[in-house]
Amino acid sequence: MATTLRSFIDVAPESHFPLENLPFGVFKPAHGAPRVGVAIGESILDLSVLEEQGRFRFPEFQDRKIFATSALNEFLSLGRPAWRRARTVIQDLLAAENGELRDNATMRAHAFHAQHDVTMQLPARIGDYTDFYSSFHHAHNVGTMLRGPENALMPNWKWLPVGYHGRSSSIVVSGNDVRRPQGQIKPPDAEVPIFGATRSFDYELEVAFLMGPGNALGEPVTIDRAEEHIFGMVLMNDWSARDVQAWEYQPLGPFLAKNFCTSISPWVVTLEALEPFRRPLPPQDPEPLPYMRAPNDCTYDIHLEAQLQISSMDAPHVITRTNFQHLYWSVAQQLAHHTVGGCNLRPGDLLASGTISGPTDDSRGCMLELTWRGANPLRLPNGETRKWLEDGDTLAITGWAQADGFRVGFGEVTGRVQPAFTPGQTP
Ligand code: MN
Repeated sequence: MATTLRSFIDVAPESHFPLENLPFGVFKPAHGAPRVGVAIGESILDLSVLEEQGRFRFPEFQDRKIFATSALNEFLSLGRPAWRRARTVIQDLLAAENGELRDNATMRAHAFHAQHDVTMQLPARIGDYTDFYSSFHHAHNVGTMLRGPENALMPNWKWLPVGYHGRSSSIVVSGNDVRRPQGQIKPPDAEVPIFGATRSFDYELEVAFLMGPGNALGEPVTIDRAEEHIFGMVLMNDWSARDVQAWEYQPLGPFLAKNFCTSISPWVVTLEALEPFRRPLPPQDPEPLPYMRAPNDCTYDIHLEAQLQISSMDAPHVITRTNFQHLYWSVAQQLAHHTVGGCNLRPGDLLASGTISGPTDDSRGCMLELTWRGANPLRLPNGETRKWLEDGDTLAITGWAQADGFRVGFGEVTGRVQPAFTPGQTP
């Protein structure tokens, strides 16, 4: 593993944001407009300040304001060579041996913010959002519950990355509460559906990738070029209403069970930062069709956790421990498949993995699987139990790739469950 890089900014060994990471995000300082920054330790380096100083005079930037803006979309549209050049500038400037910023107190005061002093925003204007279903263990567990172990996987599952087109308008950044949704629910023993708040409110532990330049309508992105289009990744919680889903999902898939809210983490970890954690893609049988085959296709070794804290607990409790490597389909395969029919993707589009479950009981990435549809409630350290999420519960997802001496982390995506909407209440 690469030797640890050193910054003049203090970075603890367990920090998610060492000099090797440098994730991009959009933040709003206490005074001033939103702008783009990178996380380093517990600080943020304000890239709009560096831009103002002319440190990003690359041909792709032309004279545009790429970082003095409230979304990453312009930057995303520039492509990998520009992303790499910007990363190199930032990494050099933050290095321990570089005195330019380190020894200039005025500039440091201007360019750095403490993370606890700012408000993080969505990293991009997300135009379109797609959610895949790429974890074998998740698909197999859910299929077993619905159809039994013999018919757990539908015949198409190992031939193509199953997905659905989601709703981008309800994607929120970490820290926002989530309101318990209402909808149609048909209890198993009832003749007709009822209307009401979901009684089986769930989370889904996922990782999503943010699109770079994208492709023209009608021109697929080939799998060997897929990585040129992927800027980086975030953690995602695809909040779900299982009872609503069970009644509505056939024949066209999830709708109101998913479209009420989806939360993502604010820092986008780039593929450059994840490079040391590339791993061979696990074997696929049957061999995918040629448009989804690439010799160097890969997965990433990223540890992922979901933590539940209910109001009677002093600290969060880890309920899922899983890994990105448990995904069957790679991000490149997802992207190649998404566009092979000619669908165009645009900068800022978000493509998510689907719930990431592993082979063991504690690596299941949602309550549906952990409690086996409520049959085996989770037992929490203080003796309380949960079949599903209840009002006031906080669910956080975190994740990091561990190297020798440092970790490349994602921070977290967290949200608290609020009671269902009642008419007349103030918004
Ligand atoms: Mn999902």
